[in-house]
Amino acid sequence: MSIAENIARVRADIAAAAKEAGRKPEEITLVGASKMNGASACREAVAAGIDALGENRVQEMTAKLQEHAYDGAPLHFIGHLQRNKVKQVVGKVNLIQSVGSLELLEEIEKAAGKLGLVQEILLEVNIGEEEAKSGFAPAELLSGAEAALGREHITVLGLMTIPPADAEREENLRYFDKVRALFLDMNEKLFHNRLQVLSMGMSGDYEDAVRAGATMVRVGTAIFGSRHYT
Ligand SMILES: *Cc1c(COP(=O)(O)O)cnc(C)c1O
Repeated sequence: MSIAENIARVRADIAAAAKEAGRKPEEITLVGASKMNGASACREAVAAGIDALGENRVQEMTAKLQEHAYDGAPLHFIGHLQRNKVKQVVGKVNLIQSVGSLELLEEIEKAAGKLGLVQEILLEVNIGEEEAKSGFAPAELLSGAEAALGREHITVLGLMTIPPADAEREENLRYFDKVRALFLDMNEKLFHNRLQVLSMGMSGDYEDAVRAGATMVRVGTAIFGSRHYT
């Protein structure tokens, strides 16, 4: 299957799941998670009409930017972002999806301020409260959002989450429901219900995520094929 065919299939799945949930397919943004895939694969996805591409590693993204891998589509940063690499990401991407600490917010504010721009971000929720995972704990989310609201060079568009990898389907669905509840609560309390983006769902669970209210899914393997780690 070609990348274009895979994208068409994923879109059809998303449309079916959206309809089941009484939603419109065009409410859902399809982000191609292109880590470990070269510039030509990225260009194929852009040519096939992917809504955005998402990268995980700063070094890989920087190299692929130089190859014009993403020309024609918005670029998102979706991976764990170290503070000392923030300068290499702010202003280079349309959206940083993985902002999960106050320290990272501060660093992004500084970098965006220096460039005189406003960086759009999502707050990442560590919904499984996993030790090894970054993201705000559910109980810290509102104070994280308040901190972001106080920053001149940051705009919050919504939430992102990655549930625990070992969750069974039912448990995974409960995580999606919890994140949606957090999203609705935060949106009402702090953002006048203006937030639009709820980023959840990957290759194994994007249809469930759409049924649970995701407005953005990040799909890698189902579009680009399995990754070959070296
Ligand atoms: C790799 C990755 C994805 C996509 O994963 P697949 O299972 O290959 O679809 C989504 N989100 C993030 C943050 C990722 O790192």
